[in-house]
Amino acid sequence: MKYDLKNMTREMALSILELPEKELPILLEEVYEIRKKYKGNTVGIHLLTNARSGDCSQNCTYCAQSRDSKADIDKYKLITYEKLQQDGYTVKEKNLARHCIGLSGIRFSDGEISEFADEVRKLKKETNSPICCSIGFLTEQQAVMLREAGVDRINHNLNTSRKHYPNICTSHTYEERLDNIKRLKSLGFELCCGGIIGLGEDNTDVVDMLFQIQSIQPKAVPINFLIPLEGTALEHRDTSYLTGDYCLKILCLARLLCPQSDIRCAAGREVYLKGREKQMFYAADSIFASGYLTADGQGIDDTIKMITDAGFQYYVEP
Ligand code: SF4
Repeated sequence: MKYDLKNMTREMALSILELPEKELPILLEEVYEIRKKYKGNTVGIHLLTNARSGDCSQNCTYCAQSRDSKADIDKYKLITYEKLQQDGYTVKEKNLARHCIGLSGIRFSDGEISEFADEVRKLKKETNSPICCSIGFLTEQQAVMLREAGVDRINHNLNTSRKHYPNICTSHTYEERLDNIKRLKSLGFELCCGGIIGLGEDNTDVVDMLFQIQSIQPKAVPINFLIPLEGTALEHRDTSYLTGDYCLKILCLARLLCPQSDIRCAAGREVYLKGREKQMFYAADSIFASGYLTADGQGIDDTIKMITDAGFQYYVEP
């Protein structure tokens, strides 16, 4: 094994992102050995429900739900229970790995969390699926309300490096994100923590972000590749440098730094890794189906077929 997982330095990490194209197959083979050791040959599919959409007070440049976005999206305060339940049954019937539920916004009143927790409680009772929420900054009391309702994992992404963060958002800080993550961890939640590639960062930012994520030791690391959405500040962002090779190197680095975590190739896989799925699964063991918060994605049945066509097994909850 060429890569010393315990002693990976920033220089080594950078050199992986700069690896010449001809060396990529060797990297993928090595990473695949690690992936097999910890994750076997399975791929978990996650379904994402947007439970509260639009009208966010924050100004994250990539997000169609931000206060500055002109994107034409559905806006609602809280999804109806029937819609949440419908997605919950899809997760159960299709044996998906987890139901992820996102809410736009950064801070919530106790009343809002209590109303949402009631829906989660009902859902958990009916489906008993693992539930993860992406839900901004929570107070301790709010986090406990959600845990008692049945949320076992919280997603809170770092998105980019500390250095680059002010270029993508100024309405809250990187430090606030880290504090929220620490608070949730201390309360016993499993964590899902990843980022977005394509926000104008350079390789040192990618490396810094992944080392920061490594220090958090999340259960899952979602890596998104920017889909520039019409109406957002990044709608004209040039993402031509997100080649399949580059995206694969990033997924490999995530696997090397967080070997035991679920490495999720999240938004953008259908765009940047189309036709490279087999190689994608050499590093990643987790994906979304049926789209992202405000962007479409591949349907569930097609996703399952894609996994098996690539020679992997679709993960079924034991
Ligand atoms: S990413 Fe989250 S916090 Fe940022 S604008 Fe979108 S919904 Fe708001």
